[in-house]
Amino acid sequence: MKSEDLSSELMETPCPVCESKNTKVTQKIMDLPHFPQMWFFNLTCSDCLYKYNDFINLSIKNPMRYIYHAENEEDYTTKIIRAANGTIRFPQIEAMIEPGPNATGFVSNIEGILRDIQGKVRFLLADAETQKERQKIVEYISMLDVYIDENKPIDIVVEDPFGNSTIIPADSTKLETIKLSEEEAQKLKSGFIVFEGLKDN
Ligand SMILES: [Zn+2]
Repeated sequence: MKSEDLSSELMETPCPVCESKNTKVTQKIMDLPHFPQMWFFNLTCSDCLYKYNDFINLSIKNPMRYIYHAENEEDYTTKIIRAANGTIRFPQIEAMIEPGPNATGFVSNIEGILRDIQGKVRFLLADAETQKERQKIVEYISMLDVYIDENKPIDIVVEDPFGNSTIIPADSTKLETIKLSEEEAQKLKSGFIVFEGLKDN
């Protein structure tokens, strides 16, 4: 992963949360496999510890959808770059990470994102209102264990109206790259992490 350090171009940016000027901004351009010219931006506030990351793909400006069909251990190491406006979906497990007002970018792999979802679902246990709802959550957590431990086949869909989020495939033959129409791009929602299957209605 080649990267070009732009630290010499540090800007003075106040913290968006506490307005402190004690912030450190790092930005660099990384050349990733299949994705040249990815601009990475990070802001850290030394007063309130707020952190913000984002990515801008300088080579693609179109709304994009990437689908990776993971089916083995190596596939689970596929890297995901999620920019602040990116949506991540796992259709088989009905999980979705949508951009929200506090969304920042991150880099992770498929296993890491599934573990993160699992951790967030665990938090839902405390708010479960009925035994049935609690049971569904417990089952969902064990189902994720099966995916993670056995590298069960799973599709990951990454969509971004500005083409800034991407998938860096472990095996490029398993990656689908689709340019979205304006109409499809407008349908991309913004919100929070949604677990459609877990509500006990
Ligand atoms: Zn701050």
